[in-house]
Amino acid sequence: MEYEDRFRQVQRPKYDCLLFDLDDTLYPLSSGVASECLKNIGDYMVERLGIEERKISDLCNLLYKNYGTTMAGLRAIGYEFDYNDYHSFVHGRLPYGKLKPDPVLRHLLLSLPIRKVIFTNADEVHAAKVLRRLGLEDCFQGIICFETLNPLPASSSDQERKTEVFDIVGHFSHPTDGVELPKTPVLCKPSVDAMEHALRVAGIDPQRTMFFDDSVRNIQSGKHIGLHTILVGTSRRIKGADHALESIHNMKEAFPELWEEGEKSELVLHSGKIGLETSAIA
Ligand SMILES: [Mg+2]
Repeated sequence: MEYEDRFRQVQRPKYDCLLFDLDDTLYPLSSGVASECLKNIGDYMVERLGIEERKISDLCNLLYKNYGTTMAGLRAIGYEFDYNDYHSFVHGRLPYGKLKPDPVLRHLLLSLPIRKVIFTNADEVHAAKVLRRLGLEDCFQGIICFETLNPLPASSSDQERKTEVFDIVGHFSHPTDGVELPKTPVLCKPSVDAMEHALRVAGIDPQRTMFFDDSVRNIQSGKHIGLHTILVGTSRRIKGADHALESIHNMKEAFPELWEEGEKSELVLHSGKIGLETSAIA
């Protein structure tokens, strides 16, 4: 018995990294930020890309569903635009004031001596603003964001410029044999390739990582690549999710062992490279 106790003491914890989505995971969907974001995306498509307003809703749905993000879909079907312009338009006017400091979550995260990393499809500026608003800017050891996965600006070479926009709405309303959806140059969740690439860049072992995300698709891809998955924002577990949490605030009730194991291995972890400030992984 004594031996077993000692053995348990030196056993390494099951998880050595917690990977968190940002939007609608670290703060609730009810904040209203997501709906404003969607509205801004529609406005961008009308104002900057000249798409007819009546087409926006269907187009957005199809692009989001097939490419993970509307932006990735817009690039796939042939629109050329500057990524920074898109991000500043879509995120620049978001009502960040709706996000309030969350001292409860801050305490939970800071009391957990395990590497914590953000994994968001959004750009670095947005991620930093959200974390600052929530009062969580020093709670993570890294951010995997749009720029991590897409370090190069959108190509504007004539060779790659598409002359025609692929009619994705028509493609789904009148499917034609042999016509495939064009591929996107943008890497983002829930693409399995993009997620595997992100974990490699950040040096994350999926088998030893818990992944928190509010998107069912991201969770299912996460499961596929070996992450331990937690769907956030609902208590209803779906296929691909190992757990479901109504709120990220419930993480300690759901996984008390993380804090217990973390305490035991704190000394070991702190001898590693853990920075105090959150920075994007590029
Ligand atoms: Mg999300």
